[in-house]
Amino acid sequence: MGVDMKNVTTTKKCADCGLCCYFTKEQTCLAPYFSKREARLVDKKKLKKASGNLFQAKVVKSIKKEGFFVCLFLDEAKYKCSIYKKRPIDCVTWPFIVGWDKGKKDLYLWIADGSFCPAVKNVNEIKRSSIVDEVINYLKTKNFFKEVKNGERYLWPYESYQVKIKRITELIS
Ligand code: SF4
Ligand code: SF4
Repeated sequence: MGVDMKNVTTTKKCADCGLCCYFTKEQTCLAPYFSKREARLVDKKKLKKASGNLFQAKVVKSIKKEGFFVCLFLDEAKYKCSIYKKRPIDCVTWPFIVGWDKGKKDLYLWIADGSFCPAVKNVNEIKRSSIVDEVINYLKTKNFFKEVKNGERYLWPYESYQVKIKRITELIS
């Protein structure tokens, strides 16, 4: 069944932050995307149709964090993803992101910076570690790049909180 993703974040750091799965009003467009295959595994009522074959998690106003919206799949009381084993690749690989550079010319593996994900402190250390190959290997075993070629995956546009990790354009050509 492919490889498992090792966590780059720690439970302690995440407990202190607790912002995964929450979005400000302006960030609701960052809710995770589901491919058609991933959408089949979960409650479709909690998804909205996005472009092409894609779906995106619906969000609702948080009952715990004022001013925030939350992914409908989050059990807020327990702060647990209710579809953890079936959560989409977007969530599995976070804080890594697969997306375009500014000119949409090249595809990169990015990582959210410390302002967006406090668990990410030393990007240079991450770049040197085996986790980068593990993430790419994980994406390969999940047929992510094949699905990109078939138009079945959402590739994120460049955002200023992202830091470049590795150019991966060749994996979709
Ligand atoms: S944003 Fe980063 S530090 Fe915060 S909960 Fe998510 S993974 Fe953990
Ligand atoms: S699917 Fe699960 S892990 Fe992903 S944003 Fe929603 S609650 Fe969080």
